[in-house]
Amino acid sequence: MIPVIALVGRPNVGKSTLFNQLTRSRDALVANLSGLTRDRKYGESRLGARPFVVIDTGGITGDEMGIEAQMAEQSLLAIEEADAVLFIVDAREGLNGADEALARHLRQRNKSFYVVVNKIDGLNEEVAVGDFYALGVESLFAIAAAHGRGVRAMIDQVLARFPEREPDSSEFDRRDSIRVAIVGRPNVGKSTLVNRLLGEERVVVFDEPGTTRDSIYIDYGRDAQRYTLIDTAGVRRRKNVHEAVEKFSIVKTLKAIDDAHVVLLVMNAHEGIVDQDMHLLGHCIEAGRALVLAVNKWDGIEPHQRDWIKTELNRRLIFAEYADTHFISALHGTGVGNLYKSINAAHSSATRKLNTNQLTRILEGAVQEHAPPMINGRRIKLRYAHAGGQNPPLVIIHGNQVGKVPNGYQRFLEKVFRRELNLVGTPVRIEFRASE
Ligand code: GDP
Ligand code: GDP
Repeated sequence: MIPVIALVGRPNVGKSTLFNQLTRSRDALVANLSGLTRDRKYGESRLGARPFVVIDTGGITGDEMGIEAQMAEQSLLAIEEADAVLFIVDAREGLNGADEALARHLRQRNKSFYVVVNKIDGLNEEVAVGDFYALGVESLFAIAAAHGRGVRAMIDQVLARFPEREPDSSEFDRRDSIRVAIVGRPNVGKSTLVNRLLGEERVVVFDEPGTTRDSIYIDYGRDAQRYTLIDTAGVRRRKNVHEAVEKFSIVKTLKAIDDAHVVLLVMNAHEGIVDQDMHLLGHCIEAGRALVLAVNKWDGIEPHQRDWIKTELNRRLIFAEYADTHFISALHGTGVGNLYKSINAAHSSATRKLNTNQLTRILEGAVQEHAPPMINGRRIKLRYAHAGGQNPPLVIIHGNQVGKVPNGYQRFLEKVFRRELNLVGTPVRIEFRASE
C-alpha cells in the first residue's frame, strides 16, 4: 500500500521547502489536497517509480504543555497513521530545547522517527549533525532541502523499508474480488451506505471483516461476484452502536483510494459539491482510479428542485465525465442496488486487457480524424500503440517529437480511446515513447 510520510518539526526548519521539493520534483505527480483541512498540506508524490503521500503537519513549537493544543486533530491523526515520520531540525540553529521536547513527545506516542538535519549547505556536515545525536538516534539524514541535496537518497532509504505492492499478486486479486472503496467527507452518509450495502438481501458476507490499521476490509458476495468493501468510515469496527464513530481521516481515505479497483465517492445532495469533494475527486483522478459517484440524501430533495440540482452537479463534474452518477438514499435504500451495475462496468473497463492491433487501429483513426499539430514545420508523427497496463488502462504510443504533443491533443486521444474501446467509469492514461 502507498507509504505515507509525515514531516514534523518546529516552524522555520524547512518543512514546507522539503514538501515543495518532494511534490514538485520533475516526476512528481501532485494532487494537492490542502483544501481538505485548514492548514495541513497533503501531496502525492512519486520518486522514480514509487508513489508516496507526504504530509506537512505545520509548525510545532515544542512547548511541552502546548504541543497537543497546537496540533490540530488532523495533524495528530496524520502522525499516528503515517508510516514514517521525518523529524526536521535546523543545522544552522543547532539543537534546541523545543526539538528535545518534540522528540520526547514522539517517543511517548511510540512513534519511531527519522531525524533530518536540514540546511547543511555551506556547513561542515559532520560538525553540523554532531549535536543532534543527543536526540537519541543512531543515524540521521543530512540534507539541504532548498537545493534538493540529499533528499532523494533520504526518501529512497525511507521507502526501501516498505514492501512494494505487486499489482496482481495480492490475496484479494487471487480471489477475483472487486475492491470498492467508499470515500467521502464527514457526514455525507458513508456509514449508512456501508450498512445498507451489506444489509441487502442478496448479499452474503463471507468473513468477519479483516481489520487493518487503515480501513476495514469486508469480503462479500452478490450475484456470483465477490466484492471487498473498503470501509473508511470504520462502521464495522464498532462493537456496538454506542461506540464513537471513528474520526474522518485523510490518510485512511488516500490509502483506500490507492488500494481500490473502484472508488465510490459519496456526496451530499443537500450541500451540493463543495471544495472538499472536488479535492477528493481530484485525487481519484490523479490516482487513475475507476470511479462511481453517489449523490446521497436524495430523499430529502423536493421533486421540483431535482432537475436544477442535477444540472448544477453535471456542470461541476465535467472533468470526471467518465464516471456514472447515481442519486441515492442510503437511509431508505433507494438506488443503492443500482450502484453495482456501474461498479461492475467500471471494474471491467479498468482491468480489461487491451489488444495491440486494435490500439494501433484506433490511433490511426484518431490521427485521421484530427491530425497532430506541426512543430517548427515538422508534423508530430504517432506511429503505433500498445498496451502498457491496467487499472487504469495504459496506452503507450510511439512516434516522433512525442515530447511536444500538446495537452489538448492528448485529451483528444484519451477521449477517442475511451470511446472506441467502450471504456466506462475509468480514465485512460497515455504515455508517449520516442521512436526516433
Ligand atoms: P517551515 O516553517 O518548517 O515550513 O520552514 P520553511 O520551509 O518555510 O523554511 C524556513 C526558511 O528556511 C526559509 O527561509 C527557507 O528558505 C529556509 N531554508 C529551507 N531549507 C533550507 C536549506 O536547505 N538551506 C538553507 N540555507 N535555507 C533553507
Ligand atoms: P458518514 O460520516 O459519511 O459515515 O455519515 P453517516 O452515515 O454517519 O450519516 C450522517 C448523517 O446523515 C446521519 O444522521 C444519517 O442518518 C444521515 N443520512 C445518511 N444517509 C442519508 C440519506 O440517504 N438521507 C437522509 N435524509 N439522511 C441520511
